[in-house]
Amino acid sequence: MQNQIHIQEVGVRDGFQSEPIFIPTDVKVALIDELSEAGLSKIEVTAFVSSKAVPAMRDAAEVMARIKRAPGVIYTALVPNARGAEGAVAGSANEINIFMSASESHNLANVNKSTDASFEAFKDVMKVVEGGGVSVNGSISTSFGCPFEGHVDPARVLHFVERYLALGAAGVTLADTTGMANPAQVRSLTEMVYERFPGIDLTLHFHNTRGMGLANVLAGLEAGCVRFDGSLGGLGGCPFAPGATGNICTEDLAHMLWAMGYETRVDVDKLIAASKKLPDIVGHDVPGQVRKAGKFTALHSFANAKRAAGS
Ligand code: ZN
Repeated sequence: MQNQIHIQEVGVRDGFQSEPIFIPTDVKVALIDELSEAGLSKIEVTAFVSSKAVPAMRDAAEVMARIKRAPGVIYTALVPNARGAEGAVAGSANEINIFMSASESHNLANVNKSTDASFEAFKDVMKVVEGGGVSVNGSISTSFGCPFEGHVDPARVLHFVERYLALGAAGVTLADTTGMANPAQVRSLTEMVYERFPGIDLTLHFHNTRGMGLANVLAGLEAGCVRFDGSLGGLGGCPFAPGATGNICTEDLAHMLWAMGYETRVDVDKLIAASKKLPDIVGHDVPGQVRKAGKFTALHSFANAKRAAGS
């Protein structure tokens, strides 16, 4: 469908990975199965990473094996290297998501490599998936700003998009890893990407660290983007700012797009129902707002209204 906006869930990976407790495998599988029924276009199920480095994802293979696959949903897994790609392929992922950072210092901090070395290693990842029907999405972290270097030159981002496409990636994600993007910048960079790479399968991944998340989505939409990542309940955090909000909230994103009349195929009520389980799962409140306030169509009885101070 031409005008469909695709909502992609990353909370069970990006979100759960930043929780200090291990979320039991049963709980992950049940939540992913519930999300599969909500009309999302893609679910980033897990990450095939070293279980020593990221114990939260140590059950990646089991989760992939146990989830029910709903037709039309792309089940993707984050992988850092060829070994991770082998795990994801063995787990019948539809897609693998590989990642590097637009800034050298963030790439070094995150994967202990130069960006050139990252692309060198991606060649081995491509060999693993070659001819196997698993597609590759290339993510560019810190596309809109780096917590160490600040400004990131858009020319660098365009350069890495080009390298991903040359490598054979089917899609590219621009990630605002630490919530530094603003809407004017998002519009400008997104327009540059479409101008240089017409028809590119582009995803925008925003964090709401500074409250600009949904405004950034709107700027991306206006620049022509039709794919956005979100995290159920707004789960997730920022490793450089303890207590800061993580990814934009999936149900708040779906609710905004629905209210604006966009077709997403997502059932906002189902997302809200799933999100209501999160505080019990993670043991704390999560930032999502629609889960707390209800949809904008949820009216209140006038007869029972008490006079309340407020503006
Ligand atoms: Zn993220």
